[in-house]
Amino acid sequence: TDVPEIAFNNGETIPQIGLGVFLMKDKDAFMPAIQWAIDAGYRHFDTAAFYGNEQWLGEALKKSDLKREDVFLTSKVWNSDHGYEETKEAFEKTLSKLGTDYLDLYLIHWPADNYIETWKAMEELYKAGKIKSIGVSNFKEHHLDDLMEHTEIKPVIDQIETHPYFQQSDLVKYLHDHEIAHEAWSPLGRGSDGIFEDAVLKDIAAKHHKTVAQVILRWHLQRQTVIIPKSTHKERIEENFNIFDFELTNEEMNKIATLDTGKRIYGDPDDKE
Ligand code: NAD
Repeated sequence: TDVPEIAFNNGETIPQIGLGVFLMKDKDAFMPAIQWAIDAGYRHFDTAAFYGNEQWLGEALKKSDLKREDVFLTSKVWNSDHGYEETKEAFEKTLSKLGTDYLDLYLIHWPADNYIETWKAMEELYKAGKIKSIGVSNFKEHHLDDLMEHTEIKPVIDQIETHPYFQQSDLVKYLHDHEIAHEAWSPLGRGSDGIFEDAVLKDIAAKHHKTVAQVILRWHLQRQTVIIPKSTHKERIEENFNIFDFELTNEEMNKIATLDTGKRIYGDPDDKE
């Protein structure tokens, strides 16, 4: 399968689907999951210093047949490592754990206090070629306005909570208007609030002979969103990738747009500062 790519504002691109590896804390489950994902066609992995599994991801990729340049690797700087020097140190640790000499994408995980100084360190690492693209996560409009006002390089992407029950239409429009790509975390809404039993989604899924998870992920793709669904189960890893052979109609896209509840599954970024 040829995975579509989303173009960044700096000329780089990102595969539109990757495997998210948050809460994968058991190495015996982690290592095969990465290989199943590679076999299914995933070439993009989303980790973070905070997830505590960068080292395993590095090992799993080394064991695979993939070359470094065939893989898109994202990691993130954690809140306790904000600041100029701190970020440079955290980045070196991340590189060494992943066993690589560059990252495809490095993100500020949350807009904690000192993110301007953090970003300045990231700009330097970007200019030195150690990071191909730099971006943010959990930034709202006011954080992005502030960042762009006080620093030189515009973020390429914002990784935020979005799924059919929390669509963030205003922020998504802001990102589009500023040529910042939209990446969804918890793209499946983590399966919470009965999303997999949603009547509207089930009806659309039945029409396409697909699962609700596949319909949700397809909806994201058609919204030009980058997605990083997480699973450690072989069948689900494959299922989540098998979304390139059908298309939702405008009517179905519009129906899914009505499912927004405005309710987050996790904390408001403004409470994290
Ligand atoms: P998700 O929406 O990807 O849901 C994952 C859960 O849904 C799994 O644990 C599994 O129980 C279930 N699931 C997965 N595939 C399924 C399928 N086909 N059928 C039925 N159930 C299925 O939620 P997530 O793990 O929170 O988010 C994905 C990734 O986003 C994370 O791994 C991480 O990389 C990233 N993330 C980032 C942040 C951030 O602050 N930047 C926060 C949370 C998550």
